[in-house]
Amino acid sequence: MNEFSLINDFFKSIPLKRSSVVYGIGDDAACMEVPEGSQLLVSTDTLVSGVHFLPEWDPQVIASKAVRVNISDMAAMAAEPCWITLALTIPEINIPWLQSFTQGIKNTLNTFNIDLVGGDTTRGPLSITITIMGLAPQGQSVRRCGAKPGDVILVSGELGGAALAVKLLHESNISADDKTELMNKLHYPNPRVDLLTLLQKFASSAIDISDGLSADLNHICKASGVGATLNADAIPVHPLVPKYWQKNPLDLALTGGDDYELCFTIPPERFNVFMQEIKNTNLTCFPIGLIDATCGLRMRMNDDQIVSLFPQGYSHF
Ligand code: ADP
Ligand code: MG
Repeated sequence: MNEFSLINDFFKSIPLKRSSVVYGIGDDAACMEVPEGSQLLVSTDTLVSGVHFLPEWDPQVIASKAVRVNISDMAAMAAEPCWITLALTIPEINIPWLQSFTQGIKNTLNTFNIDLVGGDTTRGPLSITITIMGLAPQGQSVRRCGAKPGDVILVSGELGGAALAVKLLHESNISADDKTELMNKLHYPNPRVDLLTLLQKFASSAIDISDGLSADLNHICKASGVGATLNADAIPVHPLVPKYWQKNPLDLALTGGDDYELCFTIPPERFNVFMQEIKNTNLTCFPIGLIDATCGLRMRMNDDQIVSLFPQGYSHF
C-alpha cells in the first residue's frame, strides 16, 4: 500500500456531511462555503506520541482525543466547529492500527457533525496535527482579551479528573469504576460546544482549560491586562480528586491540565440573566471568582485570608 491508496482507503472513505463542503480530499486544497455574515476561525493542535498520549493507547482513543482537543479550541472561541484537516505522521503502514484510528476519527466527527476535508500523510515518529476551522456570526467570537474588572469568572465543569487519571495511570489501588471514569476523562474530553451560543451572547472572554485553571486563567488576565481573585471553596474539584489525592486536591484542580472545560468571564450586569439561561438549558456552570484591576492571581481561602496564586500548569519548554 502506498501513500495514495492509504489516503483513498482510509481518509477519503469517511462520508462528508456538510453541504458547505464544495470539495474535500483529492485536490491540492479543499473548498468550503462560508455563509454571508459569518467569520472563519482556524486553529491547530498537535498531539505527539509519548507527550500527549502513549503509543500503546487504543488508536481510536488517540484519534478521538486529537479531534476533541481541537474542537475544544473552537468552543473556547464560541465558534461552531465545521471542518478539519489531518496531518498524520506514522512510523509504518500498520493496517489494523489505521483502521482503528480512522474509525475513531469517523465516530468523533459524526458525534460533532464535522467533516474531514484534507490533510497530509508522512512517515516518521507518530504524531497527529489537526487543523480545525469553524464559524461564528460576525463579531461574536470570544477572545482572551475582553475581561474587565468586576467581571465574574466561571468554569463549565469539575476540574482535576484528567490530571488525576495521569497520576493514577500505574496505580492498582483504585476501584475499577473510578478508574474507568477517570480514564474516560483523560481519553474522551468533552469539548463544551453546548455553551457556544451562550458564550456568544454573554462572555467577555474565554479560554479552554488544557494546561490547568491557574495557567489558563492567567492567559486571560495577561491578554486583558487585568488580575483575578478566586474563591477557594467555589472551585469545582472533581469528586474523585479528594478521594485519591488527599495531599492537595485543590492544587490538582488548579494546576492539572487536560480537562478541556471552559473558563470564561461575564460582565456583572449580565451575570444573573446568564445564570438563569444556563439553568433553563439544563447546563451547569460554576462562578469561581472575580476579575480585578490589580494584575496577578489571588485566592481567597476559606478563612477569608487572601494568598497569591502562582499560575502553574503544563508547559512544553
Ligand atoms: P500534495 O502532494 O498536494 O500534498 P497529497 O498527496 O499529500 O497532496 O494529498 C492528496 C489529497 O489527500 C489531498 O487532497 C490531501 O488534502 C488529502 N490527504 C492527504 N493526507 C490526508 C489525511 N491524513 N487525511 C485527510 N486527507 C488527506
Ligand atoms: Mg501532501
